[in-house]
Amino acid sequence: MKYDYLIVGAGFAGSVLAERLASQMNKKILIVEKRNHIGGNAYDEYDEYGILIHKYGPHIFHTNSKEVFDYLSQFTEWIPYEHKVLAFHNNELYPIPINRITLSKLYNKDFTEEDAKKYFESKKENRYPILNSEDIIVNQVGYDLFEKFYKYYTKKQWNLEPKELSPSVCGRIPIRTNDDCRYFTDKYQFMPKDGYTKMFERMLKHKNIEIILNTDFKKIINDVNYDKLIYTGPIDYFFDYKFGKLPYRSIRFEFKIFLIEFKQKTAVYNYVDNTKNYTRVSEYKHLTFQKSKSTSLSYEYPIFDGEPFYPIPNEENKHQYHLYKMESEKLSNVIFCGRLAEYQYYNMDQVVANSLTILKRF
Ligand code: FAD
Ligand code: UDP
Repeated sequence: MKYDYLIVGAGFAGSVLAERLASQMNKKILIVEKRNHIGGNAYDEYDEYGILIHKYGPHIFHTNSKEVFDYLSQFTEWIPYEHKVLAFHNNELYPIPINRITLSKLYNKDFTEEDAKKYFESKKENRYPILNSEDIIVNQVGYDLFEKFYKYYTKKQWNLEPKELSPSVCGRIPIRTNDDCRYFTDKYQFMPKDGYTKMFERMLKHKNIEIILNTDFKKIINDVNYDKLIYTGPIDYFFDYKFGKLPYRSIRFEFKIFLIEFKQKTAVYNYVDNTKNYTRVSEYKHLTFQKSKSTSLSYEYPIFDGEPFYPIPNEENKHQYHLYKMESEKLSNVIFCGRLAEYQYYNMDQVVANSLTILKRF
């Protein structure tokens, strides 16, 4: 059998490209996926009590792109869901992103928006140029709030000081003076009605798409007859680590079931002080609105070894990645795409948007 494309990885990058190439350009596709399922890190499945859980941690869909939303809407209906997170600090829960309610609770006084602005103004330190993840927060709210809500969480998550990480890491979280407690403010905030895995199944159900699971691409690549390769795995692995291993952060997920209706008030609690080894605890029923007498939660313990989940954004790693990127540019029939292949801290919608853009180039 001759394939037009061999695609490595059945996550968002691989699946969007496979779906478009098969359905719009009538290309024959073989996807090779090393895990035993499609969906990449967005994979979800039902636990023994019928709660839909995310095997690789909570995945909340949010985007400002109508194109991305319309594209995915062909494969799923949606449930409106606006994500809310509480930060656990000093045995109390506070809204995160920091807003005026966070300040009011923290300092036991009613902060108006104006008070919050003045407070930040009085505490912030001038940190220009903004070089790292400490600068970007301290420059907005001062060292005290940085220490309470960012310093220890970041250290746990990355095993690096915020000073050692690019500003884009902590800069992902907005800081507010109003009482908006949503984690995201994107125009489209939804969860796929039947889950991510079902959405992926519908994307990949096409006569031109074949999928091989449980297989590393290196095991089969020499036996497959294909024209072009699309690679969505870790870029350093593709090149046999010739410029050294790129650092990725991994997570050990511990799942627990409780025979109670709800354990948390919101889907996610961030453990922002150093009293616990885990960073984030997620209760999936808040995402799915399922009714059940049991509830399922995941506890995230950041680790080094294990599957590569997070590229680690800093100058040193960027430099190392660029060595690989230059190498990848020499290969005219391989496309590198996605969070691992581009070594970028992308959200799902960014990966979908990039994949759709690649297709426009064809
Ligand atoms: P992946 O989903 O990683 O897919 C790559 C696939 O390639 C994998 O299935 C892998 O098994 C396969 N593969 C790798 N190497 C090989 C090989 N050698 N041979 C064969 N197959 C291979 N984004 C959001 O928008 N919202 C969120 O709330 C959110 N939460 C997240 C929480 C966590 C804990 C993590 C880790 C990520 C989160 N993300 C979130 C980001 C989201 O997971 C990614 O943006 C998205 O999954 C990237 O898709 P991808 O196809 O690039 O990569
Ligand atoms: N962060 C933090 N405290 C929080 C939330 C986030 O210090 O309560 C920092 C931390 O470094 C984290 C980064 O901001 O890794 C990005 O947070 P986000 O919630 O976007 O992380 P992700 O969902 O990608 O794991």
